[in-house]
Amino acid sequence: MTLNARPKHAVPQATNAMKKTIEAILERQPTRTENRSAWDHFAHSCAYCGCDLAADARDWHWDHIDPVGGNHIGNRAPACGRCNGDQKLALNWEEFLATKAEGDAYTARRERITKWMDQHPRPSATHSQSVEKMVEELRTLVAQFGAKCRDLKATIASEDPQKNRPRRRAM
Ligand SMILES: [Zn+2]
Repeated sequence: MTLNARPKHAVPQATNAMKKTIEAILERQPTRTENRSAWDHFAHSCAYCGCDLAADARDWHWDHIDPVGGNHIGNRAPACGRCNGDQKLALNWEEFLATKAEGDAYTARRERITKWMDQHPRPSATHSQSVEKMVEELRTLVAQFGAKCRDLKATIASEDPQKNRPRRRAM
């Protein structure tokens, strides 16, 4: 855990995890062959900071380039534990990459990621109407969860006597 790591149970992380769970159910996981080809494309290194990775080590992960962009191989890139731990959150991947590399290194890594995404577009998933309906219901639930959590935080804050105490006037 790095110092700038964000709280694990913050509302945006939770809703993001739920969105990813829905995507994961809808989309098949990449095959071993697809993973192997991504591993080679990224030259066994972290797509963001460029550090070397070992295939059999557990300190790297398949990052979702776009956090809500789906599970297909074109949205996957190897990322070291450090880069994977620095949640991208509101940053898009290019902004995130800019925090990890600059100049020629930024350009080269950006091109490598873009090329990978272009070569492997997201497969168009066709689902039955009942599946689409359930997914829509789930997305609504996720949005409601986020809104309710924010309400809860606001209510707790408004009930906090520390915060409601009238401010002492400055002398
Ligand atoms: Zn990295």
